[in-house]
Amino acid sequence: MQQRPHRALEIRDITRSFDGKRVVDRVSLSIAPGQVTCLLGPSGCGKSTTLRMIAGVEMQDSGTIHVDGQLVCDTVFRVPPERRSIGLMFQDFALFPHLSVGENVAFGLKGGGAERKARAHRLLDRVGLAHFIDEFPHQLSGGEQQRVALARALAPSPQIMLMDEPFSGLDNRLRDGIRDETLDLLKEEGAGVLLVTHEPEEAMRMADEIALMRAGRIVQRGAPYTIYNAPADRDAMAFFSDIN
Ligand code: ADP
Ligand code: MG
Repeated sequence: MQQRPHRALEIRDITRSFDGKRVVDRVSLSIAPGQVTCLLGPSGCGKSTTLRMIAGVEMQDSGTIHVDGQLVCDTVFRVPPERRSIGLMFQDFALFPHLSVGENVAFGLKGGGAERKARAHRLLDRVGLAHFIDEFPHQLSGGEQQRVALARALAPSPQIMLMDEPFSGLDNRLRDGIRDETLDLLKEEGAGVLLVTHEPEEAMRMADEIALMRAGRIVQRGAPYTIYNAPADRDAMAFFSDIN
């Protein structure tokens, strides 16, 4: 029997329409463990809808989604979001205000209190925030809250991390540092990553592979510099032209 290669995420031909208009049109992607794929494209091209279907908070009209080789969704079968081994990080995906930083990170973990606390401490330490473990989210800056959100998303060791423009709420001064730290931690944890962004510069900086999306479709896939040096068409070229 033929062995299928191990994939953290595999989506095949997923499609979604709203009001008769296809906003995601037969999108296919596969991501290996430890690989960062950036879904890059202009506002409104269908990036967030794609991510929401993978997360399980939006249902596709057709197509299949596998996480770690397991079918999580086709048109008749659907694993609920919390059982998909997926970590989520969105720009406006807020921390729980009534829980301490440590409790936020431990929230999705199973096991005993001491074990959960140790895992939360280790991740907070890794993002340089262990000293905030008993503080509350409102006592932290935006950048610090974003690091806690990353630690929370990674705590249950998801097979795949879905990140939707996670850095766009941060000011420029902080953004590069947080991008680099985030990338280091993601690589260390070994999850496959699908990062959505409309900023070519962010994709160039973070991606192992870029999937360029336009009007609901993936128009080009490849290593960042391959796409940068040989965009598939004029629109792709124009999209990259403001990076220098
Ligand atoms: P992106 O994240 O690339 O900016 P989205 O996936 O958010 O794009 O949206 C793609 C298109 O689908 C947009 O035209 C948007 O208005 C539309 N859309 C998204 N969600 C809904 C919805 N729940 N109902 C109707 N239209 C939607
Ligand atoms: Mg979006």
